[in-house]
Amino acid sequence: MDLMIGVDLGGTYTKFGLVNEKGELIAENYVKTDTSVTYTAFFEYLISQIKLLHTDTAPLSKLQGIGIGAPSGNSLTGHIENASNLAWAESIPVAKLVAKYSNLPVAVTNDANAAALGEMKYGVAKNVDNFISLTLGTGLGCGIVINGKLVTGQNGHAGELGHTIAVDNGRPCGCGRKGCLETYASAPGLRQTLLQLLIESGQKSVFSNVNPDDISAKDITSEAAAGDKLALLAFNRTGEILGRKLADTVALLNPSLIVISGGLANSGNLILEPLIFSSKKTFSVFLKEQFLLRFLR
Ligand SMILES: [Zn+2]
Repeated sequence: MDLMIGVDLGGTYTKFGLVNEKGELIAENYVKTDTSVTYTAFFEYLISQIKLLHTDTAPLSKLQGIGIGAPSGNSLTGHIENASNLAWAESIPVAKLVAKYSNLPVAVTNDANAAALGEMKYGVAKNVDNFISLTLGTGLGCGIVINGKLVTGQNGHAGELGHTIAVDNGRPCGCGRKGCLETYASAPGLRQTLLQLLIESGQKSVFSNVNPDDISAKDITSEAAAGDKLALLAFNRTGEILGRKLADTVALLNPSLIVISGGLANSGNLILEPLIFSSKKTFSVFLKEQFLLRFLR
């Protein structure tokens, strides 16, 4: 049996799994993304753990290659370039390093593009030639597939919808601009909106007397589901901003499907309803007929 290795390199944890030709996960594990050591030491350790998983769970199988999704991973250079949530703030030659320690072919891309490729090959976007994949989590990732091909752009940086301006002169973003979509439509963005509403609205909420440091996007989701008005308002604002941007994106690219995944997708209708409402307001019939929105939990 031939197996591939999939790696999801995140700011806190790095998950990895053995996957067969049908895209089925055979075994998985994770390590902490330890940025207190050099990246060379980290990737050497990561490969030793992957080899261990292989010998422990599927020793008779043959490993064919490694695919890595990483923040700011560039498929054209094989590098991670200045990822803001990884403390190794420089250009890391991940593909070269991992190939050296594993003796396997290695492909690197950013996590949003990896999600889009996964949906295209094994997921809900199978046989869909034009779609957009959004990952809503710590940031907002976007992978664009046009005419059956992932759009990389000239230098591998295409699809940065999260860093297009959603609010004029809005919240400062890690990229240096102000008002980027990611600073609103993401887990930290939702949290920020709730904290702002707590101050501005004067409305009572279960969060009124909670230390802001103790409020997470997950808490806001569960309290909104339980009917807290302020938490619901935070979701409405978030969905509205994202919906307007998606309407623009649909006008620009004419996709037949938008797939939304990532931690914030767990909120389901809480974000989906205001999102659809505001995108319809922008594009009325056009949007309704032109695309199908899929949420993945
Ligand atoms: Zn930005």
